[in-house]
Amino acid sequence: MAGRLQAIHARMEAAARLAGRDPRAITLLAVSKGWPAAAVAEALAAGQHRFGESYVQEAVGKIRALAGRGIEWHFIGPLQSNKTRPVAEHFAWVHSVDRLHVAERLSRARSGDAEPLQVCVQVNVSGEASKSGVAPDEAPALAQAVAALPGLRLRGLMTIPEPSEDEVLQQRRFATLRALFDRLNAAGLALDTLSMGMSDDLEAAIHEGATVVRVGTAIFGTRPARAGAEAPQPGGT
Ligand SMILES: *Cc1c(COP(=O)(O)O)cnc(C)c1O
Repeated sequence: MAGRLQAIHARMEAAARLAGRDPRAITLLAVSKGWPAAAVAEALAAGQHRFGESYVQEAVGKIRALAGRGIEWHFIGPLQSNKTRPVAEHFAWVHSVDRLHVAERLSRARSGDAEPLQVCVQVNVSGEASKSGVAPDEAPALAQAVAALPGLRLRGLMTIPEPSEDEVLQQRRFATLRALFDRLNAAGLALDTLSMGMSDDLEAAIHEGATVVRVGTAIFGTRPARAGAEAPQPGGT
């Protein structure tokens, strides 16, 4: 585990150097969905403190089991409006806000807490090839509305492009998110987070400005098949 984490950090650093960027400006989020609390504890012992989860019920079990260990939990999966309360209660971050209705429910569940929920708006940069995320031309209005909600702090944008081996296409998708990010900042939103890049495409994402890469398989290995504890979620991976 320590060796795999080290290898990812080495890839991130090499990609940052190639892009002329400071490697310290890029954070590794370890995606532990599908893996038990013991795997998270192992990565934690190797120095990894930020973890991403996609399935609410599975995540809450792990979060409870590992409470008090200094872990920062990020929700990155498709978010159904009937699961907003446990997400607002247990997570520090949500990367997958793609509807105002869901943001409003998160806001209500979090308002009154000292610490706002850190959120990203998820954008679909691949058109019909991918289902989750708001369309790029609808993203500015959603971002402005989310930024105005109490209990939430809008930090940036997230995307999951369609899987592709074509590095030029990968970079074009990530560049689309980057352009949107720059546009929103020019419009006055103080965004600092571009959540993009996974095990297979983190180099392309870092090249285009990623500040958070979300890596599962390259850290934990191939995920075990899900046991069907929750209904399949459209857009989930
Ligand atoms: C599963 C998942 C990842 C990690 O993907 P890997 O290919 O295993 O690195 C990243 N982001 C999201 C939103 C995911 O659902």
